[in-house]
Amino acid sequence: PPLLEVENVTRDYSQGGFFSRRPKLRAVDAVSFAIGVGECVALVGPSGCGKSTLARLIVGLDSASAGRMRLEGRQYRGRDLAPLQRASLSLVFQDPFGSFDPRMTIAASLGEPLRLLGPMGRAGHEARLAAAIAEVGLDPAMLGRYPHEFSGGQRQRLAIARAMVTRPRLLVLDEPVSALDVSVRGEVLDLLARLRQEHGLTFLIISHDLDMVAAMADRVMVMDAGRIVETGTPETLFAHP
Ligand code: ADP
Ligand code: ADP
Repeated sequence: PPLLEVENVTRDYSQGGFFSRRPKLRAVDAVSFAIGVGECVALVGPSGCGKSTLARLIVGLDSASAGRMRLEGRQYRGRDLAPLQRASLSLVFQDPFGSFDPRMTIAASLGEPLRLLGPMGRAGHEARLAAAIAEVGLDPAMLGRYPHEFSGGQRQRLAIARAMVTRPRLLVLDEPVSALDVSVRGEVLDLLARLRQEHGLTFLIISHDLDMVAAMADRVMVMDAGRIVETGTPETLFAHP
């Protein structure tokens, strides 16, 4: 079976509070698709078309108003994902600055997702953190430091380390390099490509950067006004007649 199946997923937001008479906003509108193991799929579309909402549903940070998803055949609506399933889907947020708590050490931030795996003992916990930080090319001695001590590129590496610490099968990447200086984008993209290969990861990448999408994605889904309006390879979709 596919790694992830999304079937008729809809997400409505109420506008103006619970008692408002305004119609609901349909941010995601009856979306269906599947992603196979090892695929790299890009999700593109204009700002506000529903990409981030869909990403949050898939990783279990929010729940669908209608429809269902399946992870390796197991059905869920969003926040009802069981902890072990949740640990196998990681979201890399768009903003590496906002996603780390400035008052927490890197070790504490990276350790948080490990709670999903249940008790593992201090040595096992520390080994996971050291492996994750080494894997993104940073020094384990940095674990005791705080987010403000790192550059933008380093913080995005840390965000990737935090996403990898539970050893997920699917990474959902929301604009993974758009907040970074052009000079470090290539390095972060190379890191992602290497992790994908070494761990047999599956990627769902949200991006505005069509050059990056063309270079990385096996398949592209175009979203508009909450719907997937086109799907194809980068070659067919971006071909200039
Ligand atoms: P994208 O990621 O493609 O820019 P979003 O998923 O962020 O799009 O937003 C889709 C639509 O849903 C937009 O109209 C946005 O204003 C609306 N929206 C997003 N999050 C919320 C929310 N928490 N409450 C109400 N409306 C929201
Ligand atoms: P609660 O304890 O209220 O159920 P959650 O478990 O949904 O809260 O999430 C706690 C925090 O962990 C969220 O704010 C989110 O930032 C983060 N989180 C949860 N699941 C994921 C995931 N799959 N990928 C990335 N971050 C996640």
